[in-house]
Amino acid sequence: MAVESINSQRCNGCGICVQSCPADVLRMDGERKKVVIRYPDECVVCCWCIAECPTDAIVLTPTRYNRIFTSWG
Ligand code: SF4
Ligand code: SF4
Repeated sequence: MAVESINSQRCNGCGICVQSCPADVLRMDGERKKVVIRYPDECVVCCWCIAECPTDAIVLTPTRYNRIFTSWG
């Protein structure tokens, strides 16, 4: 899994990460007005969500980074 967690205390529910994700990994939880990780296996580790999040609420798994970069190298 590439996306590890969303810090719900930091997440302000702006939805920017949902819009920026090209892989449909993230969804809004309408009731809580927070983002949830819906399809973690679809993450392509593009890091758009992290780059766009205004509150640094998204955490990626470092091991997936290593695996991806190793396969590209
Ligand atoms: S961009 Fe950040 S603050 Fe906005 S909904 Fe996504 S995780 Fe929450
Ligand atoms: S790293 Fe890319 S694919 Fe993965 S959740 Fe963030 S925006 Fe979506």
